[in-house]
Amino acid sequence: MNPSAVTTPPVTVLGLGPMGRAMAGAYLDAGYRVTVWNRTASRADDLVARGAVGAATVEEALAASEVVVLSLTDYAAMYSVLEPAAPALAGRVLVNLSSDTPERAREGAAWAARHGARHLTGGVQTPPSGIGSAEFDTFYSGPRDLFEQYEDVLKVLTGTDYRGEDPGLAALYYQLQMDLFWTTLTAWLHMLALADANGIKPSEITPYAAGTLGGMEQFLDFYTPRIEAGQHSGDVERISMAVASLDHVVHTTRDSGVDPALPAAVLRTFRRAAAESGEEDSLTRLFEVFGRGAAA
Ligand code: NDP
Repeated sequence: MNPSAVTTPPVTVLGLGPMGRAMAGAYLDAGYRVTVWNRTASRADDLVARGAVGAATVEEALAASEVVVLSLTDYAAMYSVLEPAAPALAGRVLVNLSSDTPERAREGAAWAARHGARHLTGGVQTPPSGIGSAEFDTFYSGPRDLFEQYEDVLKVLTGTDYRGEDPGLAALYYQLQMDLFWTTLTAWLHMLALADANGIKPSEITPYAAGTLGGMEQFLDFYTPRIEAGQHSGDVERISMAVASLDHVVHTTRDSGVDPALPAAVLRTFRRAAAESGEEDSLTRLFEVFGRGAAA
């Protein structure tokens, strides 16, 4: 047995999808005593072979450790798993690394408190392959004292980024990152389809995509203080230019026989910004246009 097992608290992991399995594995590697439970019991087999205790019931899994890591699809799954075992929740520390909305995270924390458990919300910013590495961070929010008390245990999984007491904050930061991540990844896939339709392989165009994405940081650095200052003058670029440019993309897409729905939808928002704010402004006016809510 690893000597650290003597001093580290036992940990229970509920939910053994790709993420939960990686997490339980990281705790085993770090010498923790790990108890696991999963709805589909067979997913625990390899972890049990590596030394984890496979709990027969949720109650048994909760009884095994004060610290209970939840890695379930969403908060609805948490209620499915924990409601029937609610009397066993008293005194537990739920580290909920299942992603969901900020509001559901707040409701989940209040629900846990009603059953005598404390709740930390987490938003994990790496795929399973990054679990066990300090290279990636997980957002956390909830009681600061609880976070600080268990930070060493959390750090076995990833680096930590504590965002504040509000249980919804970690979920909010996570969703903000997902907003950027999914739309960016989708734009890249659209670019690949457009390239492919013109005989250019993904491996040929992707280095250019990586260059463009790498260069984004300087745009963000340049625009952020201007956006915060409400400065949207078109001294560097104008919405009219962006509309014309994206219109070329839509037409190139259509001419190539590729579905233009994605750039066409973005072009509609550009035109909305031009109509509402004037074509002489910078495209950063979109920040305000989005903030005003859905188009009529
Ligand atoms: P999965 O959805 O693949 O698996 C999660 C687990 O939830 C499984 O063990 C599954 O059990 C269980 N589950 C789902 N519904 C229920 C239910 N009604 N009752 C009981 N158990 C249920 O998710 P991942 O492992 O990929 O991820 C876990 C969390 O981490 C998710 O919230 C995800 O958004 C987040 N995340 C995932 C990343 C990734 O790359 N995978 C990256 C960052 C965050 P069973 O095995 O029986 O189906």
